[in-house]
Amino acid sequence: MQTMPIIQKRDDFPILQKVIYGKYPLVYLDNAATTQKPRQVVEAMTEEYYNVNANVHRGVHFLSQKATELHEASRETVRRFLNARSTSEIIFTRGTTESINLVASCFGQAFMKAGDEVIVSEMEHHSNIVSWQLMQERLGIRLRVVPITDDGRLVMDEYVKLFNERTRIVSITHVSNVLGTVNPVKDIVRIAHEHNVPVLIDGAQSSPHMKVDVQELGCDFYAFSGHKIYGPTGIGVLYGKEEWLDRIPPYMGGGEMIKNVSFERTTFNALPYKFEAGTPDYVATTGLAKALDYVNAIGLDAIEAHERDLTAYAMQRLMEVDGMHIYGPGIEEHDAVISFQVGNIHHLDMGTLLDRLGIAVRTGHHCAEPLMRRLGIEGTCRASFALYNTREEVDALVEGIRRVSQMF
Ligand code: PMP
Repeated sequence: MQTMPIIQKRDDFPILQKVIYGKYPLVYLDNAATTQKPRQVVEAMTEEYYNVNANVHRGVHFLSQKATELHEASRETVRRFLNARSTSEIIFTRGTTESINLVASCFGQAFMKAGDEVIVSEMEHHSNIVSWQLMQERLGIRLRVVPITDDGRLVMDEYVKLFNERTRIVSITHVSNVLGTVNPVKDIVRIAHEHNVPVLIDGAQSSPHMKVDVQELGCDFYAFSGHKIYGPTGIGVLYGKEEWLDRIPPYMGGGEMIKNVSFERTTFNALPYKFEAGTPDYVATTGLAKALDYVNAIGLDAIEAHERDLTAYAMQRLMEVDGMHIYGPGIEEHDAVISFQVGNIHHLDMGTLLDRLGIAVRTGHHCAEPLMRRLGIEGTCRASFALYNTREEVDALVEGIRRVSQMF
């Protein structure tokens, strides 16, 4: 029932009408890597470049004030989207990667020293591993890793055991970009807080698919990327509780993040600007706000219901294929990402041949090499869904996989 109003939105996405290798319409199932953009987002950005463009926060002139208004209104849209307490808690970054690096670097500098520990998990994206390893190099901190079960769920008993007097922060993904696992982040936060340890949630794969309320989750930091939620590339968000953002140092130095500068002593701007050195991508923030408006107008509950339905249907249909193996948990804990392997067909061959049939899926290690190692594989094929995908596209995928299998 819920699928109808969403499917009708396909017309908002011109790229979905593209013919690829003579195949029409394009079956785009690489949404976990990036989503397509609706006209509303692209047009809002074009409109800003054509009619409003001027640098923000600095000018007394008309256009600068207009651009600033748009930029700050976008921050308010993000605040509402996450239900943060204040716009001071919304920092614009280039994306999830930069948001995580910011926390690792600044929190690390303020609160961690040699021997202190960060808890991550075995299913993290490289951005939530390597950022901390840079701190390992710089400060001598240690990474502690929550293991996963064979079906790709966190072993919560082991998580609890990792806490000790050296634990300074937990940094864990909300949803796995490989397995689709939806992690119990509320429990993760509650347990960490019982040890007075703050939590960073990597929301790259949760923000597009489910309602996120940072106050309800109780997390201290939450990171997401605009391009994975129908917004432009190059823009993302770090939510941080004011009490933490106030206590950690700036990330980069430059214009905007300062109050006064002299060669003897520089003071820093108020939140959130303390973390926003240089000219922000104020056109992208408009695009991001438009994308969030777009998602809100459909409703994240409706999007989630549609994608859950599609994922359940896809898991059931895929299992009809001979030799099919699907990674990750059962449908109850499975978000709109399905990693699979068919017999001994190499994932690269499968992805390349599906592409020739007009079906775009992801192949490889999905920036999660430690997870691949845990699963004993080099890579997978991954299909991931967005609000515009349909059951017919799932059928096309299954048919495509069958055709590829027959070639081997
Ligand atoms: N974390 C997860 C779980 C992701 O899926 C991704 C993107 N694949 C990232 C972090 C990094 O996001 P970005 O490249 O937009 O910074």
